Amino acid sequence: MSVTFIPVDRCWVCGGTRLAPLHSALFELSEYATQDPPLSEYSGATVSIVECGECGFAQPAALPGLPNFFDRMYDQRWSDDWIEEEHRATYKDAIFADILSALDRRVPAGRRRLLDVGSHAGRFLATARKTGWQAEGLELNPKTAAFAAAATGAPIHRGNVHTFDADAAFDVVTLTDVLEHIPDPRSVIRRVARYLAPGGWIAVKVPNGPAQRIKERVRAALRPGYRPTLADNLVHVNHFSPRSLQRALEAEGFTSIAVVAGAPEMPPAAAARLIRRLAFIPARALPGALHTPLALNLQAYGRRA
Ligand SMILES: [Zn+2]
Repeated sequence: MSVTFIPVDRCWVCGGTRLAPLHSALFELSEYATQDPPLSEYSGATVSIVECGECGFAQPAALPGLPNFFDRMYDQRWSDDWIEEEHRATYKDAIFADILSALDRRVPAGRRRLLDVGSHAGRFLATARKTGWQAEGLELNPKTAAFAAAATGAPIHRGNVHTFDADAAFDVVTLTDVLEHIPDPRSVIRRVARYLAPGGWIAVKVPNGPAQRIKERVRAALRPGYRPTLADNLVHVNHFSPRSLQRALEAEGFTSIAVVAGAPEMPPAAAARLIRRLAFIPARALPGALHTPLALNLQAYGRRA
């Protein structure tokens, strides 16, 4: 049996058509052989990741034609223990604290209704609620959604941005490690903009595409046989540069946009944590460092008019 792809011929951010190949992404989905045979048939297929000559955004040259490909791939049947560990894990706490303090500075007191899109096991929601936010979640995975609701007491809406609607009901929408996973990111930004009351803020954290590509090239040079895997299975479907992230938010009507180096995840090993902290300090502080490999992640804020 052969699998199908649907070409994507325009840049999802700026509509540009000068798209140059950067990288080849490989599919390896044989673990779904029993759960979802049509999905596992994509194993061995490849698709080009192409960069827009106009805005610097990178995306796949084609998308799998299998209906609901991404929802099927993210239908992971995690164990209860693993979900509980994710809720307790501290590796993203520096990111969460950074986002909440940046929002606290921007959003007037008394406007504290927050929606976390892709709320996973609810650790960010728990932190936000402890610091005074009336935080709710939106989550596709039924198991993590149920766990997060029980663990935090927060309302967790089941679904994704295309199924959920809330007209101007929130003062803040957060998308942390979410926007890189959903095709056509401007349609996602447009949709969540509707959830915001006038003057409300969006907070987006994504990997910094150009910096991640340099990191992977360095790794490949240091380790013979290492294959860069940034886009395999199209797990990362959107690869933002600082400029293309700014442009995507502007194009959807956001103002007062700031794009800064994002706080890093903290791995368990102390040496790795130290390296990440030492890279983050200049990445955030030095002018221009946002456009260097020091800034492995991007954090953006924008205000709805
Ligand atoms: Zn573009």
